Amino acid sequence: MTRFIFITGGVVSSLGKGLAAAALAALLQSRGYCVRLRKLDPYLNVDPGTMSPVQHGEVFVTDDGAETDLDLGHYERFTGVPARQSDNITAGRLYLNVINRERRGDYLGATIQVIPHVTDEIKAFVGADLDGEDFLICEIGGTVGDIEGLPFFEAIRQFGNDVGPERALFVHLTLVPFISSAGELKTKPTQHSVKELLGVGIQPAILLCRADRAIPAAERRKIALFCNLRGERVITALDADTIYQVPISYHEQGFDTEVLRYFGLPETPKPDLEPWRAIVRTARHPEGSVTIALVGKYTSLHDSYKSVLEALTHAGIAHKVRVELQWADAETFETDERVVRALADVHGILVPGGFGQRGTEGMIRAARFARERKVPYFGICFGMQMAVIEAARHLAGMPNAGSTEFAGDQCAEIDPVVGLLTEWVRGNEVERREPHTDLGGTMRRGAYPADLVPGSKVHEIYGSHRIYERHRHRYEINIGIKRRLEACGVRFSGLSPDGELPEIIEIPDHPWFIGVQFHPELKSRPFEPHPLFKSFIGAAVVQSRLV
Ligand code: GLN
Repeated sequence: MTRFIFITGGVVSSLGKGLAAAALAALLQSRGYCVRLRKLDPYLNVDPGTMSPVQHGEVFVTDDGAETDLDLGHYERFTGVPARQSDNITAGRLYLNVINRERRGDYLGATIQVIPHVTDEIKAFVGADLDGEDFLICEIGGTVGDIEGLPFFEAIRQFGNDVGPERALFVHLTLVPFISSAGELKTKPTQHSVKELLGVGIQPAILLCRADRAIPAAERRKIALFCNLRGERVITALDADTIYQVPISYHEQGFDTEVLRYFGLPETPKPDLEPWRAIVRTARHPEGSVTIALVGKYTSLHDSYKSVLEALTHAGIAHKVRVELQWADAETFETDERVVRALADVHGILVPGGFGQRGTEGMIRAARFARERKVPYFGICFGMQMAVIEAARHLAGMPNAGSTEFAGDQCAEIDPVVGLLTEWVRGNEVERREPHTDLGGTMRRGAYPADLVPGSKVHEIYGSHRIYERHRHRYEINIGIKRRLEACGVRFSGLSPDGELPEIIEIPDHPWFIGVQFHPELKSRPFEPHPLFKSFIGAAVVQSRLV
């Protein structure tokens, strides 16, 4: 029997609902329960795929090719449970589904309304595609009181009623700010937020109160009294110096225990938190540090590279080093001198995913710097494409090498070493794209196999012949350039099984120079760092001893 835990937020956004959901899931999992996490996003985009990364943060891609909210990354990293398309939905997709059905005539002449048609669609989504998990933890994006959130709150209220309180729990995350002039923690915003929630018919049974210090018992009692719940169910969600501390703190504050009590479930066995403690110890007391330059174009919002940052942290923990990031906006790399000035002291250079022309010449300069100076280089998706353009221009004598992604009308004037993907194989099917299809949901997305060349560096790193990694791209290295680049020392060490799509390149005569067409960061876990990231940070550690 699946129990449903709904996590809503109030007072302000960015309190970390996603992390709260993920941490609770990890605690329940560690007590032996089977969990699944889901997110409902009230915005009107059909998915986050077409949103700018600096607005919304990274787009997290699942094995089945869904383009989802970055909170699903937290869910996967904290629980190891692979997310699916059925774990994230937006108001945009829900409305699209309802309207498409209306156009087909499926509603048999009824008037289509938010209640019940949209709310029914939300309820169906919450309860669909479950495999008998013990708990489904469902996070509602935004904060209570947002106009576009209303149908979602109404739907989960109804859902809770339908399944009954013995199978549904409402947890509300709020902020208890410390007002320094008064020297006090203030409970009023929490009271207001709960009132707002009550206004849409939801009485939370547990309050998670985010605070920068412990909330004294008297304040917790006050919140309990005004918000109509038991004192033990007002839990302090303390600010943490590392996200891996969050499950530990929650447990210490009794969060998971209260959840079990609510459902009348036994409080034993206790969760084994030693693996989390070990990570926290290493994160707090590393034995050294390495500096990695992240040369990207969305550097103004660090969430744009959330999974890359997490994967670097995991790899750092594996090597017991702190990974210091040096953020470099590729657009500022207008000259080689600037590149040298910015990158002279770093121990590794990572060029992550990206779209469009802006900043590309800077990324190409960074790739050249790394190749010539023998600094470890990790090119991810766009970063691989830039490294190939660089090699084509400066090693293979193709000064006009470029990508059709940003050649615009001048396609005839470039050597398209990177070109639009118009046909590829997915499983037993051939996928096709026309040059001017819609931008939303049309990239090559999700997990695809790649075969690694025996004896190559990546073959050694992965320790296997066939790998499965997640993709999200519209353009691809032109396989026709393989022989020419290999003659110049760039090895195509990973290819799609049909041999048509270059998936990995490396430079054997370099300490560590690897470009991958996929996004390995999406599969890195704190307890299972991704082999490529681990190896890259290992190379950076070696580099740090040289400079
Ligand atoms: N813009 C490139 C493409 O579409 C790279 C995409 C990415 O880095 N995810 O192929």
